[in-house]
Amino acid sequence: VTSSLSSGIFQRRTVSGRVPADLGRRRLRIVVTGGAGFVGSHLVDKLITRGDEVIVIDNFFTGRKDNLVHLFGNPRFELIRHDVVEPILLEVDQIYHLACPASPVHYKYNPVKTYKTNVMGTLNMLGLAKRVGARFLLTSTSEVYGDPLEHPQKETYWGNVNPIGERSCYDEGKRTAETLTMDYHRGAGVEVRIARIFNTYGPRMCLDDGRVVSNFVAQAIRKQPMTVYGDGKQTRSFQYVSDLVEGLVALMEGVHVGPFNLGNPGEFTMLELAEVVKAVIDPSATIEFRPNTADDPHKRKPDIARAKELLNWEPKISLKDGLPLMVSDFRNRILNEDEGKGL
Ligand code: NAD
Ligand code: UDP
Ligand code: UDP
Repeated sequence: VTSSLSSGIFQRRTVSGRVPADLGRRRLRIVVTGGAGFVGSHLVDKLITRGDEVIVIDNFFTGRKDNLVHLFGNPRFELIRHDVVEPILLEVDQIYHLACPASPVHYKYNPVKTYKTNVMGTLNMLGLAKRVGARFLLTSTSEVYGDPLEHPQKETYWGNVNPIGERSCYDEGKRTAETLTMDYHRGAGVEVRIARIFNTYGPRMCLDDGRVVSNFVAQAIRKQPMTVYGDGKQTRSFQYVSDLVEGLVALMEGVHVGPFNLGNPGEFTMLELAEVVKAVIDPSATIEFRPNTADDPHKRKPDIARAKELLNWEPKISLKDGLPLMVSDFRNRILNEDEGKGL
């Protein structure tokens, strides 16, 4: 099935914005940018399982073929090595735009590239959506709220973001991506959706991405101390990846533009998180304090009333239930790494 006529592209316009959950409908062709990454690969699994065609666009900056290798050979799956900063021509029905480094270590590595990915990458995907009449979903972030002065954060809050700091390439990049998304919606009539994702964890996170859950879990497995930055009293809310994927799909298929906060409202200090990791992985695990990074938000917790009401979505998996689900994946990968080093 290669021609645009045989995809759902013309069909979708006749179903007035709603895609039925079963495949009593025409198969959709869906692009997932950043689909070789952590969140993207779980989303791709969901879309393939449901029966649609998926094209992943990824430059493998932080993504890995390993995350998708189980789909190689599936005729409904295609993987393109491509940088979203460059234009691309495709015929598709929906675009999930995830391509962007997400952890502070990775997005600060080349901040100008991070900004270009957010601005030019998003522009290209919106141009594509406009040309073919596809629906476009942006994965924005809770970082658009910066170091928030409102707690918990509602979608109506405009944020408290440092425009010239080390995190700005990501925070301001995503804010610009949201602006572009709304301007293509208002100006060119593109059907858009905006998700503001809060901290998410689960299998397939990069082992070395420096995010707190992956760090603590890997450290506890390796019998190293868990590194708590600052006094450890800053808070985050941690969402299990399958809950996020459900939310992204509900958003894409619903009728509301958003933005919608997608996160788990359970709020933990980093010290509390360390206690949970300790209980789940190793009661003898220890912690070690390290200086904090610049502009670290003091607290973060989503208000998800809007998503509950309009998308009928809320997360189901608590931190205590979700953490064990990533441990076996991490153990296997750490074991493979050690074997690779001849340990
Ligand atoms: P990830 O780093 O695992 O995935 C990002 C993917 O995008 C990778 O596969 C990477 O190779 C690819 N990519 C990066 N730059 C690219 C480019 N220029 N061209 C093509 N591909 C490119 O991160 P993730 O956690 O899966 O995040 C996915 C999306 O969700 C990101 O947009 C991120 O900002 C957003 N988000 C994630 C979280 C979270 O906690 N995981 C929170 C808020 C927002
Ligand atoms: N674009 C793309 N694929 C397409 C259509 C557009 O990559 O199928 C890119 C295009 O190269 C441009 C961007 O998307 O850089 C914005 O496109 P648009 O048509 O909105 O603007 P223009 O080309 O007029 O600047
Ligand atoms: N953090 C920590 N130890 C680590 C990594 C991060 O204490 O090994 C802290 C970090 O200072 C921040 C919080 O955990 O306050 C979340 O950081 P992360 O990089 O996971 O995501 P962020 O929400 O900052 O994007």
